[in-house]
Amino acid sequence: MITGIDLGGTYIKGALFNKKRIIKRLKFKTPSGGKNICDAIIDLIYTLCPDPGYAGIGIPGMIYKGRVVQAPNLRGFEGFEIKKYLAKKLKFPFYIENDANCAALGEKYFGHGKNLKDFIVLTLGTGVGGGIFSGGKLLRGKDFLGGEIGHITVFPGGIKCGCGKKGCLEMYASKQGLKKILNRDIEPEEVAERAKKSIKKYIKVFETMGYALGIACGNLVNIFNPSAIIFSGGLSKSYDLFKKNFFKTLKNNAFPHLLKDLKIRVSELGDDTGVLGAISLIFYEKEPI
Ligand SMILES: [Zn+2]
Repeated sequence: MITGIDLGGTYIKGALFNKKRIIKRLKFKTPSGGKNICDAIIDLIYTLCPDPGYAGIGIPGMIYKGRVVQAPNLRGFEGFEIKKYLAKKLKFPFYIENDANCAALGEKYFGHGKNLKDFIVLTLGTGVGGGIFSGGKLLRGKDFLGGEIGHITVFPGGIKCGCGKKGCLEMYASKQGLKKILNRDIEPEEVAERAKKSIKKYIKVFETMGYALGIACGNLVNIFNPSAIIFSGGLSKSYDLFKKNFFKTLKNNAFPHLLKDLKIRVSELGDDTGVLGAISLIFYEKEPI
């Protein structure tokens, strides 16, 4: 049996997978500090199954040579030697990967990416993550730090992003971005409700989001020539509110020939996206496709 762990800023979610389906789910509150976070992950895994065969762990950040190099949503996690620490306690093979790459793997094995060799996943959540499959392989880059789609510049000199740059896609297509644009603490669901009630200010937020995603995806399509672009994460539920501007901008920025058979999809994995992605990581690492 295998376990999939989805480490988030608020919860650590875990799932036990047997043969073809999830048979148990569990979640713990995310503590702060690298050691506490890892102890909670270990506890969660062994609570799900005393003797698991493998574990896949999705992390909201960047890992380089077994160390967390960036994790803006997890306090006290940056700089932590995660691989070394977990290896002392987990007596079976485990894999760690960035959560957006896990989302792409989840689509490959369980979602719209099945049977596709070239597709791109954009996770529209607290931030914007990206996972790119090219020629059947997850594109990771020289240092395993590539695929940062959320930080493509879409408005040069625009809103300042958490990464330090200005005008990143993340500032126009994520929960954090919406809060900055509207200058208040508001949930994406509420922004969507107001847009549906035809309140101009909120409609504009989604129009800008569609435009920003159209610019970024237009460039990605020209570079990677994917079969599909898949939107995942909480804000993908508002697809109907941003799709008009998205398509218009995409058409203006991508070569027409590359758009001919391109499929645009919204993920259907729902609340299991994170854990299924982590489980998929095991399939991918054990037997790369
Ligand atoms: Zn950025």
